[in-house]
Amino acid sequence: MAKKTVGQIDVRSKRVLVRVDFNVPLGEDGRVTDDRRVRQALPTIRSVVEGGGRCVLMSHLGRPKGDGPDARFSLALVARRLSGLVGKPVRMAPDCVGPEVSGQVAGLKDGEVCLLENLRFHPAETIKDKDAALDPELKERKLAFARKLAELADVYVNDAFGTCHRDNASMLTVPQLMSGKPRVVGFLVEKELKFLGDALRRPARPFVVLLGGAKVSDKIPLIDALVERCDAILIGGAMAYTFLRADGLSVGDSLVEPERMEEARRIRQAAGAKLHLPLDSVTAEQLKAGTLTTVCERAIPTGRAGYDIGPQTVRAYTELIAGARTIFWNGPMGVFETPPFDAGTLAVARAVADATEDGAVSIIGGGDSAAAVDAAGLDERMTHISTGGGAALEFLEGKPFAAIEVLDEA
Ligand code: ADP
Ligand code: MG
Repeated sequence: MAKKTVGQIDVRSKRVLVRVDFNVPLGEDGRVTDDRRVRQALPTIRSVVEGGGRCVLMSHLGRPKGDGPDARFSLALVARRLSGLVGKPVRMAPDCVGPEVSGQVAGLKDGEVCLLENLRFHPAETIKDKDAALDPELKERKLAFARKLAELADVYVNDAFGTCHRDNASMLTVPQLMSGKPRVVGFLVEKELKFLGDALRRPARPFVVLLGGAKVSDKIPLIDALVERCDAILIGGAMAYTFLRADGLSVGDSLVEPERMEEARRIRQAAGAKLHLPLDSVTAEQLKAGTLTTVCERAIPTGRAGYDIGPQTVRAYTELIAGARTIFWNGPMGVFETPPFDAGTLAVARAVADATEDGAVSIIGGGDSAAAVDAAGLDERMTHISTGGGAALEFLEGKPFAAIEVLDEA
């Protein structure tokens, strides 16, 4: 069932509380190093502004410790960046709740925007419902905090997909308390649900899944969830070595998770011929940019480790990708941060982009995979790059998201 979106409601003169994900990376000097997340929230913000709503934005940023404000995690810098992007001043609130904030929100005119200060300056934001269920005092703290946020608004919008797998006060308790008022998804969440939900649950076939990255352990539930639905799983990255090792192959000093070998065997059994492992690896004695490399077919001698998929693997995977109608990719094929071990990831990224041009739906999930696609300048050529991170993976695993379920149906 589809969720009602911010585009389907009348926001004129209403106070619209929008949960966004402005958890942007900050540089050493505290400046915003990548404003993708801010830019991605723009369609929703513009829709509220253009509809004559009074836009009240809230987000978390980083992991501030303890109670109260902490300048290193202030959203004020984001407010400035956002002003430039929306082309109008964004008022920065001194906190996210309290009399001063209420006053500021009450003073907003139609079409104006304000940004509340970091939600995580209040530890109540991240109290888990399962802990609150055991402790009445915790429960009351979370409720009291959420009540103050809920009182700021006439409409609730969730546009923070990356946090949708959590039961934070701003994500779940606030919309629960706003029952009877419109509670909708923003355009970013709508898009994530469309691609991660519909496209991957009822994929056009062949459906090819590319999985890489460092650890198998992170991806086991994902593999289990996708194996039935897909036609091929192409494994790369360090996690390939746990599978190869479980097959009895020597993988030298490559990263393996010995405690996951049993699980790897089980997955291999279940996936059968769908599961593809690298045919060769680019190996080196040490992980260093520009280091001397050797391509090893399957077995890797001691003293060397595999840091990327090899050319034969690239060819085989490229062919399978070219024939796909739906592609989901999570996790780089090698240590793409350190050239020349970026070659496999880049080649695969190009193959996915080409397949997309030929009509396939391509969905990229995972922070590092998205970074690799960006670095290759291929982001515009993919169908969808998920902002979800951990949330996207949990969603694909089929876990229910209470923060989405609470919102109105279209
Ligand atoms: P994503 O963020 O896309 O979900 P992961 O976080 O699972 O991806 O994995 C990314 C990390 O995996 C990268 O830092 C990359 O260097 C590492 N990695 C990939 N291949 C290897 C390898 N062969 N050996 C060691 N690390 C690897
Ligand atoms: Mg990662």
